[in-house]
Amino acid sequence: MSELVLTLAAAQGRSTGIWHAVELHRSPSEVDGACEVAVCGALARVDLDTVWDGADEDSCEACADLLY
Ligand SMILES: [Zn+2]
Repeated sequence: MSELVLTLAAAQGRSTGIWHAVELHRSPSEVDGACEVAVCGALARVDLDTVWDGADEDSCEACADLLY
């Protein structure tokens, strides 16, 4: 299995409350609630109950710019 499946998850910054996008390279069950490095480089806690939406006003602009 060499196919790379890229999945985006939403992750919330601890101090800022801003939502970042995190690229999942592991199975979702392994990253839920864990701190991961977001697309923009920030550390954020993954919340699989939330869907990443770059258009949301609480979303990180840097993540959105890098993804779209
Ligand atoms: Zn970000």
